Amino acid sequence: MLKIFNTITRSKEKFISIKKNIVNMYVCGVTVYNFCHIGHGRTFVTFDIVYRYFRHIGYKTMYIRNITDIDDKIINLAIKNNESISVFTNRMIKNMHRDFSSLNILSPDEEPKVTENIDAIIKIIKKLLKNNYAYIQNNGDVIFSVDSDIHYGKLSNQFLKNLQLGKRIKIDKNKKNPLDFVLWKKVSSSEKYYWNSPWGKGRPGWHIECTAISSLKLGNLLDIHGGGIDLLFPHHENERAQFSCFKKKHKINYWMHSGMVILNNKKMSKSLDNFILLKDLLSKYDGESIRYFLISTHYRKPLNYSEENIKKSSISLRRLYFSLKNTTINKNFCSFPNKYQISFEEAMQDDFNTPKALLILHSLSKKINIFKNENKLEKVEKFSNLLRNLGKVLGILYSVPEEFLQRNIKIKEEKEINSLIKKRNIARKLKNWPVSDKIRKKLFKLGIILEDNKLSTTWRKK
Ligand SMILES: [Zn+2]
Repeated sequence: MLKIFNTITRSKEKFISIKKNIVNMYVCGVTVYNFCHIGHGRTFVTFDIVYRYFRHIGYKTMYIRNITDIDDKIINLAIKNNESISVFTNRMIKNMHRDFSSLNILSPDEEPKVTENIDAIIKIIKKLLKNNYAYIQNNGDVIFSVDSDIHYGKLSNQFLKNLQLGKRIKIDKNKKNPLDFVLWKKVSSSEKYYWNSPWGKGRPGWHIECTAISSLKLGNLLDIHGGGIDLLFPHHENERAQFSCFKKKHKINYWMHSGMVILNNKKMSKSLDNFILLKDLLSKYDGESIRYFLISTHYRKPLNYSEENIKKSSISLRRLYFSLKNTTINKNFCSFPNKYQISFEEAMQDDFNTPKALLILHSLSKKINIFKNENKLEKVEKFSNLLRNLGKVLGILYSVPEEFLQRNIKIKEEKEINSLIKKRNIARKLKNWPVSDKIRKKLFKLGIILEDNKLSTTWRKK
């Protein structure tokens, strides 16, 4: 029986889907104005595990993860770069997909952009205004009135109690309640980027986009709504309030939140400027080791980031791969009842306890090593396929063991890679393509993929 910690009830609850054997989930995606950082990695690996696990236990899934491609920061950066916002955001989305696929994060079933869903957003705002759940401020902005929802604060209750109005929430005399928030922001006629609406040129607020997209794609009954814990207030609280005013019969059964990433005992965040970009991490470590690190702590607990911890994860992963060395993959393998499989399922059914699940993989790996020593080849094959299959549920152990082990031994220093790239750049300048290709192939064997731009060559691990 799968149990999930539900933020709104603050308890672990038995999971019962709205429709039998089908689960729909909506996870707030990335605001694409910069490269993704490790906090994004953690959130989206967490929900990737949830997604994979539901599929593993036989559910049909509908997983929506939106892309926020309208935001003041996006608009300002596009203007600064002298490019259109779509050119800018498409580049950022491409970077995000590249990082996510390096972490073996599966694509969601749909990935809608805000810019593609303006009509749905306008439709909801119209209804909220019509029913007096929203009002138009003197400056033309459409504002949601939080007093419309008698349960406002229910989701993030603990946080609201601590809110110090005037300190953390700016008092705005034009707002009926300081917690009221923008649904549609009117822009001046001189602004370059805007969308037309019944309330003039402007752009949607952040909270309304998720309500519009989730109700459009999944209807009014959602099994799971997720995101990072930093979104709990105000984003999710506001989403919940809007949704319940928009559709009285709406239901979001389980609210899931992944914990934050901690660096030197401080929360990692863009505002503190102490965040680690995934692309930088991926140039040093392979994606599978980073993924292992991200799931080595339970998803709701704070995750302590340090390179040391990533190295430890890489070593642990090597141990698992070591037991898979010289074993054959049986694609028709069927799992069989045994204590490892049972314990693994128990761990995962207990609110996706991945650290416990990893421990079971290690016990299984030790058992394979024993069978190898005893030359019990049939058992080695059976249990190594089980290990691979359980690893797949966690999104790890997908590499060829020999290649993984080799790759991690051969890659010693960035220096070595950079000096090979330098040699290759000289060869390219001299149009000595055979040498340039030879170096590219050599680096590829070491697990390095080169990306040639007009001015430079960058590299990342496979
Ligand atoms: Zn959202």
